[in-house]
Amino acid sequence: MTEVNPDERSVVNEVLIVGAGHAGVALAVALVKADHPGTVTLIGDEPCLPYERPPLTKRLLYGTSAVAVPLRSAEYWERSPVVLRTGERVVAVDPERRTVRTAGGSTVGYGSLVWAAGGRAAACGLPGEELHGVHTLRDHGDLTALRADLTGARRAVVIGGGYIGLEAAAALRTLGVAVTVVEVAPRLLARVTGSVVSGFFTALHRGQGVDVRSGTGVAAILGRDGRATGVRLGDDTTLPADVVIVGVGMRPTVAALVAARARGDAGGIDVDAECRTSLPGVYAIGDCARQPNPWSEHGGAMRVESVHNAGQHASAVARAIAGLPPLDPAPPRFWSTQYGRELRTVGLPAPTDEQVARGDPALGDFSVAYLRDGRLAALDAVDRPRDFARAQALVAARWCPPDPEVLASPDRDLPRLTPAAT
Ligand code: FAD
Repeated sequence: MTEVNPDERSVVNEVLIVGAGHAGVALAVALVKADHPGTVTLIGDEPCLPYERPPLTKRLLYGTSAVAVPLRSAEYWERSPVVLRTGERVVAVDPERRTVRTAGGSTVGYGSLVWAAGGRAAACGLPGEELHGVHTLRDHGDLTALRADLTGARRAVVIGGGYIGLEAAAALRTLGVAVTVVEVAPRLLARVTGSVVSGFFTALHRGQGVDVRSGTGVAAILGRDGRATGVRLGDDTTLPADVVIVGVGMRPTVAALVAARARGDAGGIDVDAECRTSLPGVYAIGDCARQPNPWSEHGGAMRVESVHNAGQHASAVARAIAGLPPLDPAPPRFWSTQYGRELRTVGLPAPTDEQVARGDPALGDFSVAYLRDGRLAALDAVDRPRDFARAQALVAARWCPPDPEVLASPDRDLPRLTPAAT
């Protein structure tokens, strides 16, 4: 246990990780593997063992079982030297004394503090948001509440046509619920992909009976007797609904670090290539960390929300704590599964990229290469795992296709380069 009076004993080797999600657990596991010489304490505010988040909008939503998928088994935690403290929330950081305070009032010292607190589902700020039957989907508690409300539900409105909203829409259609997706941007997935892939997913959802309305805002969530009954759109159309799902992004959980004067703001904590914050001995990793990103359109700092990014950050900090030099980061990777179709992305597609389709999007089983200044900046692969696998090294190397025909021809394999560090 790392409950200490920091004045009485050395805590220099003690690593305290706040947040037992994908990033925090990956770091704890990496430190154990590296035989870290000091104590590793992992504090998470959820009451359960750490679990995987991606299944929440996928099989745990439409499947028969809603049991969380653990990131590591109970036996792992029993045998592991990691001190796992669940159900405890860290509310303050004192960078001078190198301590944190929990909501329960205990003080925990650290040599290195790693903030891995992820984020919360963003509120939509609409009238009626507080009504019963209105849901967000970020954690297992949200999933349990939504599943309970889906019993007997016939109609749902999903606000937001990003990954979370569309995966939820697909799950609800699988359950036989009539779904309308309302997206204020002119197309679905506009923040994360190009127009070709957006078009494919729009057609896929429409083909499954989803009423997709893009370029349309929601003015209010309507209700009666405290319960949601539908939404009113900006053009005054009313859509009845038994359940409303709000999927409009997330807000990083950073207030305690910002209050401790780490550089950053409500949009994320600023970190360097090794995930160091501006506070001595304090790192931030995963969804809450904003980092210069060589694959972003202008190379600026940004937050990346993906399991792959959480793992990369965890590896970077494990190396930094062990005194090892940083590895070159790999390009960001994402995936999404809807109606059994799998989208895998490497790199960060930008609106100004030239799109080159490999295969016919109308038939599925295609990829889109994104060229920036003539080089491969990103690739989306829909049910083309081979393209995705090859593209990782190509995007990392900023490959310049010698012949655009190679890219456009789905029957010709992308070249194989030695994979970069992942
Ligand atoms: P989290 O996993 O959110 O973990 C942070 C943890 O810290 C949480 O348990 C939180 O409760 C805890 N915490 C917060 N504040 C405190 C505090 N003060 N004290 C103690 N504990 C605290 N990514 C993909 O790549 N592919 C997918 O298909 C995919 N699907 C997703 C589906 C859903 C429904 C969601 C929500 C996300 C999905 N993601 C997906 C994104 C991915 O899950 C996140 O990028 C990843 O979980 C980020 O890991 P993290 O550790 O930074 O944050």
